[in-house]
Amino acid sequence: MKTIAIIATGGTIAGTGQIGKASAYRAGEIGMDEIIETIPMIKDMAHIQVHQIMNIDSNEMNNERWLLLMKTINKVAQDDEVDGIVVTHGTDTIEETAYFLTLTLHTLKPVVLTGAMRPATATSPDGPYNLYQAIALAGHPDAYDQGVMLLFSNTIYSARDIQKVNNYKIDAFDQKSFGCLGYMQDDQVYFFSKIFKKHTQHSLFSHMEIDHLPEVAIVYFYAGAHASMLYDLSQDHEGIVIAGSGNGNYDRSWLEAINDLSEKGIIFVRASRVIQGIVLSDEIFDPHHYCISANTLSPQKARILLMLALLHSHQREEIRKIFHQY
Ligand code: ASP
Repeated sequence: MKTIAIIATGGTIAGTGQIGKASAYRAGEIGMDEIIETIPMIKDMAHIQVHQIMNIDSNEMNNERWLLLMKTINKVAQDDEVDGIVVTHGTDTIEETAYFLTLTLHTLKPVVLTGAMRPATATSPDGPYNLYQAIALAGHPDAYDQGVMLLFSNTIYSARDIQKVNNYKIDAFDQKSFGCLGYMQDDQVYFFSKIFKKHTQHSLFSHMEIDHLPEVAIVYFYAGAHASMLYDLSQDHEGIVIAGSGNGNYDRSWLEAINDLSEKGIIFVRASRVIQGIVLSDEIFDPHHYCISANTLSPQKARILLMLALLHSHQREEIRKIFHQY
């Protein structure tokens, strides 16, 4: 039997509320040992190690907790007995954590994140089944060197492209235009595609000693948004990701502020508030090419890549290259 380490961080999968109901619950209330008790077949699938490193609602996730999680996984992955790792996590920020981990983990062993939309005390919680499938996936040979994955509702997703697209239904995730990596039926694994961008041990960041992350903010453009927000953020942030309209766009007052602040050393990334499509460089909205295009990364993922890129370099062209590779 394979050995799978479960790193538990909390979320709705560990949430409790009124018995039977799926609403008005608190995330991150019960421990992983208790959840495992509800899935007896796991004991026949793998030897399980449990590392309960926190028990939080994932909206409490932050840079320090990402670093703790990354270090814990790197340490656990070094254990020759461990074949794969499952991380349980709240769904609200799971996509950010997954992307951070796929950029920084120094292992090719399978790492699978999962969670739930219904708390453990709901009538038919989705967490136990997702966890069962995540364990099967983490122990499967085809899952090796796939980058960090997410397992949700019978579907295998890549950490880079996953996004929560529904805040109400159990089938809450999607990879936007890129389909998914594969499917599962119970514990059977079916891969159909592969991530093309750099990840885990192939990533430059997995070879760096990371003890802090620079301050990078996201600012949302809307009709009539004041450019003063950009100046305010530039006081204590090294980088700013713009969640622009359409192709990462904004009005002329923002363009002037971006030009001015870029000359003062702030690094800007243009992402889009639109969920599908690609943000490419644009002669009209960025005539001096000060901004780096987020390509298909959402603003929240572009922020993570920019934080890591700023640890490596402050050269705009070097960071632009990184955004093409990751
Ligand atoms: N608020 C919860 C969390 O992110 C939601 C969930 O897990 O589905 O921790």
